[in-house]
Amino acid sequence: MKKFTITAKVTLWYTLFMFIAMLSLFAFIKYFSNNSLKVQAQNDLKELVFEIGEEIHYENGTLNYGNDMRKIEGDVYLSVYDAYGNLLTGAVPRTFPMETPFSNYEIMEKELVNGERYFYYDELLNIEGYGNLWVRGVTSYSNTEKTLSNITMIALVFLPVLFIFIVTGGYIFTKTALKPVESIRKTAEQISAGEDLSIRLGMGEGKDEIQRLSATFDLMFERLQKAFEREKQFTSDISHELRTPISVVLLNAEKLLDDGKLSKENMDQVEKIQEQAKKMSDLIAQMLMLTRTETGQILLEKEEINLSDLSEILIEECQTFAKEKQVTIKNEIPKESILFADQGTLIRVFSNLLNNAIAYNVEGGSVTIRWEVEENTGTLSIEDTGIGIPEEDLPKIWNRFYRVDPSRKERSGTSSGLGLSMVQWLCKFSGWEIQVESHLHKGSVFKIEIPLETL
Ligand code: ADP
Repeated sequence: MKKFTITAKVTLWYTLFMFIAMLSLFAFIKYFSNNSLKVQAQNDLKELVFEIGEEIHYENGTLNYGNDMRKIEGDVYLSVYDAYGNLLTGAVPRTFPMETPFSNYEIMEKELVNGERYFYYDELLNIEGYGNLWVRGVTSYSNTEKTLSNITMIALVFLPVLFIFIVTGGYIFTKTALKPVESIRKTAEQISAGEDLSIRLGMGEGKDEIQRLSATFDLMFERLQKAFEREKQFTSDISHELRTPISVVLLNAEKLLDDGKLSKENMDQVEKIQEQAKKMSDLIAQMLMLTRTETGQILLEKEEINLSDLSEILIEECQTFAKEKQVTIKNEIPKESILFADQGTLIRVFSNLLNNAIAYNVEGGSVTIRWEVEENTGTLSIEDTGIGIPEEDLPKIWNRFYRVDPSRKERSGTSSGLGLSMVQWLCKFSGWEIQVESHLHKGSVFKIEIPLETL
C-alpha cells in the first residue's frame, strides 16, 4: 500500500466500498423483489379463486359462474370441478397435470420435470341447491422468475457501467482535489535543492485545508529564506571582520622575520604563526568568494577564451605542487580549443579541480585533462588516478566544509572543504553541468559540460 499515491489509495478504497455497497444493494433488491413477487402472485391467486367462489350460484337447474371463467385473469387460470373432480368449466395451463389432487385453502407449489413451476390454490364450495364443487386457480411461477431474471440481466449490464462511471469520476475528482499537494511537493523540492528560496506557493487565503497548509508552508519558507540570508550575511560579515586582524598578524610576522633579530627558535615560532595566518587568510578569502557566489554577487562577463592556452598557464602554476606530490599532469586539450565563458569563473573552477586532482592523488599518479566537443556542448574533464571518493560520500562532497575523511586534510595544504561547494555554485550560476564519477583507490573524474554558445 505504501507504494501507492494518495489518489490511487482513495480510489482503491472507495472502489472497494462502492463494490460492496452495490453488491449488497443488488442482493437486497433481488431477495426482496423475489419474495414480494412471490407473495403478490400467491395473493392474486387466492383473491381470484375467492372472487369466483363468491360469484358461482345455482339457478333454475344450471350453475352460473359469472363472466370471469372465460378469460384468464393476468397469469391466473381458473377452473371449476364437481365433487368427483370432473372439470365443469374454465381452463388450466396446458402443461399443468389435470390429475393434481385438490388441496383445500392452501397455496401449493408444483414443479414439473421440465423445471416449470406452478402455484395452485383450491377451494371446496358448497353451492346452495347444487352441493359441493371445487374451484381451482393455477398460476405459473416461471413467468415471475423470468421477470426477475430480466431485472437481474438489466442490473448486470447497467451496474458495471455505473460502477465504471463512479470510479472514473471519483478518481478525477480526487486527483483534482489533491493537485495543490503536488504543487507543494514540487516547491518544497525546489527549495530543498537550494534552487530558489524566494519561491512561494501563493494559493491565497481560504478555509480549504490545503490552502491553510500552503499558507503555513509559505510562512515557513519565508522564515527559512530569512534564516539563510542571515547566515550568509553572518559569514560575509565575519570574514570581513577577520580580514584586518589576519593581515596585521601576517604583516607583523613578516616584519619580524625580515628584521633578522630573532633567535633561531623564535624564527621557527614566527614562521609557524605566519603559516597558520596564511591558511586563515586563504580560508577567509574562499568564504568571501563563496558567499558572493551564493548570493549571486558576481558578474559574468563572457568572452572568447583559448582553452588550450589557459590550461597551459594553469597547469604551469600547479607544477611545483604536482612535483612535490610526484604527480604527472597530462594535457590532452586540442590546440586552438575555443569557448565563450567568464574567464574568472573558468579559472576558479579549473584550478580548484586541478588542485584537488593533485592533492588527492598517489605518489607516481597522474592527472589527465581533456576537452571533448559534441554537437553544441563541450566537456572539460579532469581525471586523476588518486585515492577516489567512497560512493556514500559522493553526494556530500559539494556541501560546505565537507571533507570525506579528516585524515585527508594533510594531503592538500589549504584544505577547507569549501572548494567544491564554490565550484558547484559557479557552474550552476554559469549554466554549466558538473558531474563526478569516482572509485575508491582507483581515481576520480570531474566533468563539466559547457554549452558552446557564440557571443
Ligand atoms: P578541500 O578544500 O578539502 O579540498 P573540497 O570542497 O575541494 O575541499 O573537496 C571536498 C572533499 O572532497 C575533500 O576533502 C576530499 O576528501 C574530496 N575530494 C575532492 N576532490 C577529490 C579528488 N579528485 N579525489 C579524491 N577526493 C576528492
